[in-house]
Amino acid sequence: MLSVLDIFRVGIGPSSSHTVGPMRIGLRFVVALKKHGYLEKTAKVQVELQGSLALTGKGHATPKAVVLGLLGLQPETLDPTTADADVALVVEQGQLMLGGEKPIAFNPEADIHFAYDRIPDLHPNAMRLLAYDDVGKELFARTYYSTGGGFIASRRQLERPAAGDIVEGADNAPFPFGSAAELLALCAQEGLAMHELILANEDANRPRAESEAMLDRIAAIMMACIDRGLRTDGTLPGSLGVRRRAPGLWRKLAETPNSNEREQLFDWLNVYAMAVNEENAAGGQVVTAPTNGAAGIIPSVIRHYCTGNGSDCEHDIRKFLLTAGGIGLLYKQRASISGAEMGCQGEVGVACSMAAGGLAAVWGGTPQQVAIAAEIGMEHNLGLTCDPVGGLVQIPCIERNAIGAVKAVNAARLALHAVEQMHVSLDQVIETMRQTGLDMSTKYKETSQGGLAVNVIEC
Ligand code: SF4
Repeated sequence: MLSVLDIFRVGIGPSSSHTVGPMRIGLRFVVALKKHGYLEKTAKVQVELQGSLALTGKGHATPKAVVLGLLGLQPETLDPTTADADVALVVEQGQLMLGGEKPIAFNPEADIHFAYDRIPDLHPNAMRLLAYDDVGKELFARTYYSTGGGFIASRRQLERPAAGDIVEGADNAPFPFGSAAELLALCAQEGLAMHELILANEDANRPRAESEAMLDRIAAIMMACIDRGLRTDGTLPGSLGVRRRAPGLWRKLAETPNSNEREQLFDWLNVYAMAVNEENAAGGQVVTAPTNGAAGIIPSVIRHYCTGNGSDCEHDIRKFLLTAGGIGLLYKQRASISGAEMGCQGEVGVACSMAAGGLAAVWGGTPQQVAIAAEIGMEHNLGLTCDPVGGLVQIPCIERNAIGAVKAVNAARLALHAVEQMHVSLDQVIETMRQTGLDMSTKYKETSQGGLAVNVIEC
């Protein structure tokens, strides 16, 4: 079993597959160089971005992420406020401290190559790294894949998953499940709510108090991200000149917090989701939920609905994250959470499904109702394409999170009113998303070669 904490990773924007994943790959390459005794002999490193990493890598800040990874930095612990300066120093000096210890000549313009025409066979997001000695002899080369949500894999791991999982998971989880049907059967058999069962599985990874502290930290980082987004005005980076909208909307709401406007619910959900995704677009610190592009939906719904006092609030947030994380694991294990593989249904669609399930749980839904909420949350995102304008995670991504948050709440409402077994199961909708993703043209899978990306003129 994977851990729900693999679904909620702390990283920097704007993309989990194109920023967090490549940074982790850069670091993993350095660690491999060290392990094989090549670090000291390395005088030059070259990186080739393939497939979707090449096609939308510029807008998704992939070169910056590669440099940070090669410097030995990790997305979880990196200070996002100094990241740009670290990269600028490399550019200015033409030198990079590999793994923080071995100086090499490095020019990101020349040494990071965008292989637009190379379509990888195993996964659309591939990255090849090569190390050379001081006479230009190749020392070491590896190809890795960024498989969505910050997960990475080597070629061997993708070819033979049984030989070594993409991430380490507990093999002694007391309640392993591979489908929603199995998860629901275990809940019924053990008499446990979904979040209780997921937490029992987390106990196989670490002491319970540690899991709870990690969940609290994830929630705190999500809420801090909302707060930064609400108070930061200005224009987002990139060629589109998109202005941040969350702070203005927030000020209006603050002036009339208890307005009788019936539609004000939408404003609250919108403003929180957009605050996160504007921070993400600006390269700020976010939590993958399950990806960076879809990072606003779950924090928005938590912020609006988990508002009890003290420990009640803490309890609700843990319940939300555990339930949503468990649903995210189903998508990760049975399909994919990568926009480059599934289109936006695999990012915003999955986040909506997770948030719907989490909220249904907080509202006291049974495991069956939680699964129904998650099913509805995905059913009405099926076929959603990924077509970011200018390759930036801004249009349609920011508004799409706002819409996704509202949709998640509605899905949870519908599920709580469900009185009979629904006609579509969660497993069926996950499989439908997978098949739809496989059938979807690559134009609509994070390549910026179709949809809004070709119909909206960049100015
Ligand atoms: S359109 Fe959706 S999948 Fe594509 S980058 Fe934006 S949020 Fe991610």
